[in-house]
Amino acid sequence: LTPVPSDIEISRAQTPKSVDQLAEEVGLLPEELEAYGRSKAKVRLSLLDRLHEQPDGKYVLVAGITPTPLGEGKSTVTIGLVQALTAHLKLNSFACLRQPSQGPTFGVKGGAAGGGYAQVIPMEEFNLHLTGDIHAITASNNLVAAAIDARMLHEATQSDKGLYNRLVPSVNGVRQFSPIQISRLRRLGINKTDPASLTPQEVSTFVRLDLDPSKITWQRVVDTNDRFLRKITVGQASTEKGQIRETGFDIAVASEIMAILALADGLEDMKRRLARMVVGTSRCGQPVTAEDLGVSGALAVLMKDAIKPTLMQTLEGTPVFVHAGPFANIAHGNSSVLADKLALKLVGRDGFVVTEAGFGADIGMEKFFNIKCRASGLRPDAVVLVATVRALKMHGGGPNNLSLVAGGCRSNLRKQIQIAHLFGVPVVVALNVFKTDTQAEIDLVCQIAKECGASDAVPCHHWAQGGRGSLDLARAVNEAASRPGNFQFLYDIEMPITEKIRTIAQKVYGADDIELSPEAKDKIDYYNKQGYGSLPICMAKTHLSLSHMPDKKGVPTGFVLPIREVRASVGAGFIYPLVGTMSTMPGLPTRPCFYDIDLDPVTEEITGLF
Ligand code: ADP
Repeated sequence: LTPVPSDIEISRAQTPKSVDQLAEEVGLLPEELEAYGRSKAKVRLSLLDRLHEQPDGKYVLVAGITPTPLGEGKSTVTIGLVQALTAHLKLNSFACLRQPSQGPTFGVKGGAAGGGYAQVIPMEEFNLHLTGDIHAITASNNLVAAAIDARMLHEATQSDKGLYNRLVPSVNGVRQFSPIQISRLRRLGINKTDPASLTPQEVSTFVRLDLDPSKITWQRVVDTNDRFLRKITVGQASTEKGQIRETGFDIAVASEIMAILALADGLEDMKRRLARMVVGTSRCGQPVTAEDLGVSGALAVLMKDAIKPTLMQTLEGTPVFVHAGPFANIAHGNSSVLADKLALKLVGRDGFVVTEAGFGADIGMEKFFNIKCRASGLRPDAVVLVATVRALKMHGGGPNNLSLVAGGCRSNLRKQIQIAHLFGVPVVVALNVFKTDTQAEIDLVCQIAKECGASDAVPCHHWAQGGRGSLDLARAVNEAASRPGNFQFLYDIEMPITEKIRTIAQKVYGADDIELSPEAKDKIDYYNKQGYGSLPICMAKTHLSLSHMPDKKGVPTGFVLPIREVRASVGAGFIYPLVGTMSTMPGLPTRPCFYDIDLDPVTEEITGLF
């Protein structure tokens, strides 16, 4: 329709096929499906065993140039592309998308179900609770936080013997260690299974984690942009006996458990990763893990359904996996390894899996290659780089519209293409066309993108036309992904942590050098001593510039990248440097999206979501 109706009107005008029918069409067996209502279902991981012998399809990553705060249409392009591939070119395809966080949905940016005639439906289900995975992550994360503070209280107020009697209770007169306690004893070098045989010294070592309250790295999380939780004080009630400490909240999608969900390759791997999450340091400098707290089994139980990807569909009835939702600025920014692996088997050799990395190629794509592909062993066949005329104008400089666009292409677009080429992967530029764009602007972007080394550059009209508006993109991607690959990582994993950070800063962001704060240096030394030196790097950096300065557009030069703090996500498997003033809990603007969101109590229709 012209004009294009609102996203929610378009979504509601299409009746989704039942998820059973969708599942049958993509080759799933009824017993591999766990339906949540009529239009979405979780898919069991046993599928991977059943399709073990099936060759994988082509693997395509959608990334973008440095965006405006509104987003340049990566989700929309991803959905338009699979609609074109499957519904129009009759090539099997799957889109793999992240689950949206309530932060942006109610904050500045809105949902992430795509837009116009390129959407996942029902969009309100996609954008809100879906199948509860983010709630499971929040519950798991906060169970760990509760376990930490309660344990410190109990250790502070009880003798070794009192603690021992409660931690190893006597049942019918017999004390027995639980399996998780035996595992902790082994890690402490105490190879005993009979509780009665521990020496007093061993009892003391066993019962006291002796966490240093000033060295606890674990934060609580909530999936809301709640800036007033950035710094809080806990333990102020008299019942906590003076165990007061400062801590804070992160947004749930930046949590380590979210990253684990996205990087685990099965239930066992997830369990192992949850167990080795480091929550803080003991007073004698030893890392304390979720397993030491005795909580890792319970976490696996809370996360057992979340690990299954959720099957949904696009407006044109093509399949989508929604799974995990880490942000790309303050987390690693990619949907799950498992969703991609399941989808690659389901589409088969000639099919396509189109997966999206958050924000610009400098952050979402860099972490897709260096973290996600390292963890999964998968190698992408092509990158689609999304650009818009409005973002290119923001990056450009010049007296008129065309010179602004040309400036943006020769700066930010060129640099983002070069970043993809650092990894040896062919790039197709997708110009997401807005109705305000002129033909001269569109032609200019495509011409300059090709001059800058893109395999192809095509205008995309999926937002106004659905899949048929992305046919040129689908053909260009098919062509680029058929070429032999030449993939390489940006850095050797065994390089020292500082060198890995410097390599990303210089080669990807264009910084002259990095500057580590004294705290960051101390942390890196500590992580090296603990044996975490060969983990990949997950930079937390603004998405609004290639540099750490959000207002520096185009390709900033002549800057030194400040590393304020360095954390380690040992379970997820990366070192996590915080660049500049980057915060892990966003805030709400004066007029957040929630102003427009409402519910009709009679029809139960939602309005104002986009
Ligand atoms: P990203 O994934 O890059 O953050 P989205 O695909 O979510 O971006 O798009 C951001 C917003 O812009 C959405 O609300 C979407 O509906 C809107 N949008 C995207 N492409 C177009 C277009 N071509 N014309 C109009 N609005 C668009």
